[in-house]
Amino acid sequence: MANRLAGLPSVFQEDGIGETLRQHKHFVQQLYLEDEVPWVVGYSGGKDSTATLQLVWLAIAELDESQRQKPVHVISTDTLVENPIVAAWVTHSLDKINEAAKASSLPFVAHRLTPEVEDTFWVNLIGKGYPAPRHKFRWCTERLKIKPSNRFIRNVVRRNGEAILVLGTRKAESAKRASTMKKLEEHRVRDRLSPNASLPGCLVLSPLEDWSNDDVWLFLMQVDNPWGYRNKDLLTMYQGASEDGECPLVVDTSTPSCGDSRFGCWVCTLVDKDRSMTAMIQNDEEKEWMLPLLELRNELDTPNDRPLRDFRRMTGAVQLFHDRPIPGPYTQKARETWLRRVLQAQRWVRENGPKDVRSIELITAAELAEIRRIWVVEKHEIEDLLPGIYEEETGEPYPDAASRNDSPLGPEGLEALKQVCGDDSLHYELTRNLLSLEWQYRTHLKRRGLLDRIEAMVRRGYYESADDATDYARKRKHALDAARELAAREIDEAPRYAKPSLFEV
Ligand code: SF4
Repeated sequence: MANRLAGLPSVFQEDGIGETLRQHKHFVQQLYLEDEVPWVVGYSGGKDSTATLQLVWLAIAELDESQRQKPVHVISTDTLVENPIVAAWVTHSLDKINEAAKASSLPFVAHRLTPEVEDTFWVNLIGKGYPAPRHKFRWCTERLKIKPSNRFIRNVVRRNGEAILVLGTRKAESAKRASTMKKLEEHRVRDRLSPNASLPGCLVLSPLEDWSNDDVWLFLMQVDNPWGYRNKDLLTMYQGASEDGECPLVVDTSTPSCGDSRFGCWVCTLVDKDRSMTAMIQNDEEKEWMLPLLELRNELDTPNDRPLRDFRRMTGAVQLFHDRPIPGPYTQKARETWLRRVLQAQRWVRENGPKDVRSIELITAAELAEIRRIWVVEKHEIEDLLPGIYEEETGEPYPDAASRNDSPLGPEGLEALKQVCGDDSLHYELTRNLLSLEWQYRTHLKRRGLLDRIEAMVRRGYYESADDATDYARKRKHALDAARELAAREIDEAPRYAKPSLFEV
């Protein structure tokens, strides 16, 4: 495997692999025994984090049982939209870690971390209508990766006062990585432990910081995996995918972009195309069941998504850029279509995929319930279409379908309203939303805030069409620009206030 920064010296060059590993293990042991501060190892299943955990494991396993009292948490974030093959690989590895640690009385405890339901990819995209992530609007990494790991680490710090985070970051990953690590080194308070700006009380140890790509593979191929996994399978997975970097444990925005990686999300639209999944499918006929996922990912990556998006921003305001509205969230229709597409892909894989993916869950029951709540309660889409879509696309009844039957208008009433409004969809939306809002407030003893919400709703919907709204926003903008210009001119032309001289006074 080619070294990405070719020409880098190997850490094993001077003393050979055996002696260098002995020194590394000795350093890890000393640090581990130095205090009571618990350790947290970031594990993504990729080569760097596997090598890091392997080194720490081997070092601690050599200590006396009485010395290995301090817990070592192994954390792995599952975004719930991971490449399914990689997700299964990592989940199985975490099980093996826990089994092997228990069997050998080692202090390792593996944790699979997932985002809170309101932060998941589908709840934000299908529920709230956030457009597929882009470089200028990368809303996913914070919600899917940073928050779950930071929450865990902060809890450890809260309980123990401090934590040591062990990461597989290496200077050889990229020139940018090397420079960030160098800067952090300058703020070191203890030998080889760097502070982390976004995690107070947490020091970062990167035991492989000077290792090259080839060093990592050499270590993984020459030393057996101590928790009983097969490092050779990891190599096969890399060869079966592409030559990109890996997605490390992401704890802040200085960590390299996770989109361009086989260990990233299958829905990722921050890469030109999912080369990793494409390569997996091309290299192995048995992986063809992933094709519907790839197709869905490519649909999300449509270059012109304007027709799928509202002409208003999430707040309801029409904002212009060069006299064109900046598109807002996905429309109700587009969100329904995305939901159908995810359920269709899931059904196809369950019916046509190999045995071990027959129970695949591309979207969870908790996510479906949260999407339904957002549609009905927050967006006032009281048609409550989710159970029907679910039944049509899966062929199964939606569990808990009756739980949101409480509505100001039933299906017949909504149909009548639609007919009255005819082609005027904005009028329909406004009337439906006002009825829903009033219905939500009907049991409140205090109706504080209701009038403001009604006003915001009317402002959002009092246009005749998207063109009418754009026209109005343009006129408003031009009037405001003219008023500003006039005010600036008046200030310029106003007689200057001059301080009277002492003699004049
Ligand atoms: S892999 Fe892509 S979709 Fe997933 S969190 Fe990273 S940038 Fe977002």
